[in-house]
Amino acid sequence: MLAYTYIRKGEFRFMDKPKPALQDMRDAIVRVTLGSICTSDLHIKHGSVSRAVPGITVGHEMVGVVEEVGSEVVSVRPGDRVTVNVETFCGECFYCRHGYVNNCTDPDGGWALGCRIDGGQAEYVRVPHADQGLNRIPDTVSDEQALFVGDVLATGFWAARISDITPDDTVLIIGAGPTGICTLLCVMLKQPKRIIVCEQSEERCRFVQEHYPNVLLTKPENCLSFVRRHSDHGGADRVLEVAGTDESFRLAWECARPNATVTIVALYDHPQLLPLPDMYGKNLTFKTGGVDGCDCAEILRLIAQGKIDTTPLITHRFPLNRIGEAYRLFESKEDGVMKIAVEEVKKSAPGTYQVAG
Ligand SMILES: [Zn+2]
Ligand SMILES: [Zn+2]
Repeated sequence: MLAYTYIRKGEFRFMDKPKPALQDMRDAIVRVTLGSICTSDLHIKHGSVSRAVPGITVGHEMVGVVEEVGSEVVSVRPGDRVTVNVETFCGECFYCRHGYVNNCTDPDGGWALGCRIDGGQAEYVRVPHADQGLNRIPDTVSDEQALFVGDVLATGFWAARISDITPDDTVLIIGAGPTGICTLLCVMLKQPKRIIVCEQSEERCRFVQEHYPNVLLTKPENCLSFVRRHSDHGGADRVLEVAGTDESFRLAWECARPNATVTIVALYDHPQLLPLPDMYGKNLTFKTGGVDGCDCAEILRLIAQGKIDTTPLITHRFPLNRIGEAYRLFESKEDGVMKIAVEEVKKSAPGTYQVAG
């Protein structure tokens, strides 16, 4: 089968690999009907994910149809449409029992798919701990509506949840890329008094304006003064940092009012400085990444109820055999790209694939 593979730093390439088989009684095999490309895939490509294993199939954002399940799997059956969670977790260890599934102590625990074990930019994927890692998609929810549930939307949901947002709060979200928008959608569910989004790119500002007209928008260079003018207590009550740059990290704590909570959602390429003397007296609470992806069933319910819709994020579509082009577009951020849906290749001519890019 076609499998987009991490060869070495700077190089992903299609390889022909055998269709995955069950290795454990808790595994499932899923036929990938729709996938996507995540910024974390680019981090692997750039060599900044040291855990990533050369030779693995990349991709950890996908939905599909269950083909086969191990004898201990009880929550899904062959034929079920499912979302695949970016994190595999046992559901039994100390961390899982407390909902901290990102720190599951199982050997496959945490972000393994498309990083340490074969992922989903392929025709099929093996999902360990399928009872935890798969969620059935309601019949009324399409593949495109469910595409981001397991990763980028789970991240936004988790970030909004741990930020303990109240109706009196002014919430600042820094960054309006795909994760920023998913964070925004989940913050909106909490109905805070106001939401301010800080974003550099004109294109992304227009996207926010068009789809979420009640949100206040500012640019990084004006952010601090804007937030002070548009908050009740001299700064944001909650800050969610999703941009991942030195400047955005600094803005996050500068724009927070004293005793605020600053939630770091972003993944940085290098260490950040906490200038404690400058921050002294602000009594901030920092919460750091990454996502505990254990709310997927609830997220799917909210999508089915029409309360979350991430489909505007899908700006481009490519078939799997042209994923190289899709990566180039996603990496360039050209043509207004937010997220790309990577579609299953329909097998009209059995056994023959045109691999492009
Ligand atoms: Zn991701
Ligand atoms: Zn666990």
